[in-house]
Amino acid sequence: MKTKELLALLACPQCLGRLEAVPGEDCPEGFACNACNCVYPVREGIPVMLVDEALPREAWDAGARTKEARS
Ligand SMILES: [Zn+2]
Repeated sequence: MKTKELLALLACPQCLGRLEAVPGEDCPEGFACNACNCVYPVREGIPVMLVDEALPREAWDAGARTKEARS
């Protein structure tokens, strides 16, 4: 499925808003919600649309791709 088609189907599970492919639609590594300032990772080609798996945008931009366990 093309990224554009995915973007049309998917919505942020938190705010139900539109998502943006990052870094780009050609090879998305994640889907970002600008309203929630978070990124849902794409793992092995599958978008993980779970609030629990979403990374803060700052962490994503810093290179994180999995959520760090909080102690
Ligand atoms: Zn959102």
